[in-house]
Amino acid sequence: MKTLGYYNGEYGPLEQMRVPMNDRVCFFGDGVYEATTVENHIPYALDEHLQRMERSAAKLEIPLPMELQALRETLLEMTAKLDSGSSQLYWQLTRGTAPRTHAFPKDARPNLWITLRPFSMRDPSLSYGLLSVPDTRYFHCDVKTLNLIPNVMAAERAARAGCEEAVFHRDGMVTEGSHSNMHILKNGVLQTAPLSNLILPGITRAQLLKLAREMGVPVLEKAFTLQEMFQADEAFFTSASAFCCRASTLDGKPIGGKDEALLSALRNAYLDKFRKETSAVNPYLEKRP
Ligand code: PMP
Repeated sequence: MKTLGYYNGEYGPLEQMRVPMNDRVCFFGDGVYEATTVENHIPYALDEHLQRMERSAAKLEIPLPMELQALRETLLEMTAKLDSGSSQLYWQLTRGTAPRTHAFPKDARPNLWITLRPFSMRDPSLSYGLLSVPDTRYFHCDVKTLNLIPNVMAAERAARAGCEEAVFHRDGMVTEGSHSNMHILKNGVLQTAPLSNLILPGITRAQLLKLAREMGVPVLEKAFTLQEMFQADEAFFTSASAFCCRASTLDGKPIGGKDEALLSALRNAYLDKFRKETSAVNPYLEKRP
């Protein structure tokens, strides 16, 4: 299959899948999601993403439709069905299907959606423009919900300005990107906003901080300002699909470019881990017709 869509056990080419209008995601965005990059038919950091989904779902009181291990197997099985070994695996869990009413419907059973489409990794040597955007989101940004309108609007503003990503800030304090976490390097220290209800606990962020500590790079989990971003030696953003992307401008002004050696070392350590983990064999590949 070239693309794959899955809905509660039924699957087929993504473009041909149909879902019920009464899925509460259509009315309320009532659900949580996850996404990761697949290489060699292996979804990267799958367990970490599954654990974060379990936490997000628990915060919204959405029960899992199956044990986490069974969900893991389903995701691996679906990933093996795609022709391309390099893809983006996305899945979401919605509260259920019921006529529109705000409070939880009685006896709602969660719906599991999975999508897979071919995807190629970005060229890690490129650098990108950023646009600062006031963070007008609510105070539950640690939950990976499907309510992404401020993120969508910010990403579109950035795209219209010819930028790759928006930098959310609250009164000048940087929180995160519209779909990534933001970081700076200053005097050999990796600085990033601390975990709180204002940012998503990025899986890539967590892995990068762990690698940095293992490499002896000091890590400071303390929010920084836009001003500090302008003065940083390097600024970059991370996500499961973008990995570790260097920023070259912020609001049209050049930034970073002063510690490429450290940034490359961190990115290479991350890419090495990614390649190592995705060199495993997906057991469901053998069962393909
Ligand atoms: N923050 C937001 C708002 C995001 O949407 C994402 C991407 N899912 C991230 C941070 C990065 O998280 P991860 O490294 O788990 O992809």
